[in-house]
Amino acid sequence: MIISMKLHSTREQIDEVRKQVEQFGYKVHSIEGEERVVIGVVGIGDVTACLESVEAMPQVEKVVPISAPYKFVSKEFRKGRTRIKINGTEIGGDEFIVMAGPCSVESEKQIMQAAEGVAAAGAKMLRGGAFKPRTSPYDFQGMEEEGLKLLKKARELTGLAIVTEVMSDRDVDLIAQYADVMQVGARNMQNFMLLKALGKCRRPVLLKRGLSSTVKELLMSAEYIVAHGNPDVILCERGIRTFETVTRNTCDIAAIPALNELTHLPVILDPSHATGKRSLVPALSRAGVAIGADGLIVEVHPAPEKAVSDGAQSLDIPQFRKLMQELRPYMDLWQLARKSEVGSTAAVA
Ligand code: PEP
Ligand code: MN
Repeated sequence: MIISMKLHSTREQIDEVRKQVEQFGYKVHSIEGEERVVIGVVGIGDVTACLESVEAMPQVEKVVPISAPYKFVSKEFRKGRTRIKINGTEIGGDEFIVMAGPCSVESEKQIMQAAEGVAAAGAKMLRGGAFKPRTSPYDFQGMEEEGLKLLKKARELTGLAIVTEVMSDRDVDLIAQYADVMQVGARNMQNFMLLKALGKCRRPVLLKRGLSSTVKELLMSAEYIVAHGNPDVILCERGIRTFETVTRNTCDIAAIPALNELTHLPVILDPSHATGKRSLVPALSRAGVAIGADGLIVEVHPAPEKAVSDGAQSLDIPQFRKLMQELRPYMDLWQLARKSEVGSTAAVA
């Protein structure tokens, strides 16, 4: 940040500001002109607290933050992309990754059919919720550990990596025994106890954007996980709540390139929750590939009309197969673009 002192500040006043800034762990470089002194602040510390305390000092005219408050996830911290290895595949690298599967794990037959179907169509990971965040307490809440066991079985059958939701910090250890990727749902994006617990977890985290959260808030939540020790975070745009009702949520498609400018973390798109309608999923999926997402997470059910949750936005297996075929030329172009990126092979700290 840059601190601009008021005109004709005294030496004592400048030193006072310097001392205040240094208390937050920063280093200070001042540029002293004829009438005005400008202080540059560098290093890593609690930027918000520092900024607020300095802004309140009477001798300070203006404070301009330069660095993003999300340090570790920011492009300023790491220039290249973060590549995350998951069960033999890599997200954030040279391949566009499609995760697919039902909203909820419902039965052995359902999850096995879904897993075999999406694997044969080219998905690299299987999604499926065993702990479900439902708006109504009367709706299906998930099969819990029984569901996790079925997901494990599906991985053994197909080799697909498992993405499944964790809703509470108390469940992190249990779910980490079964999952390859720990999903934080939109409703828990700011469950800070959960984010801190996932910072201590050794599994990658898929962090979905909150229902009414800004891109910056999403990045701050990712920062929690990384600052607490886990660098492997995948961000997910899944639509936000607006006045629009034709779609279930409003897909903020521009958030994807915006995130790519702001962070080195991989970013994926969820076209299913973003639209709520299976007819809109293919178009939005194409948009996701074309706009530079690192992958998709798509809801697929062997019999969507019988699904206990999110049937209306789920593709059946033939529809998913068709989607993957349609995406192929887009994914080929994506790959060419990714390979020609400067610095695509090395992340520079
Ligand atoms: C889900 O992935 O099934 C889900 C509940 O998504 P979201 O948290 O984005 O609503
Ligand atoms: Mn769902």
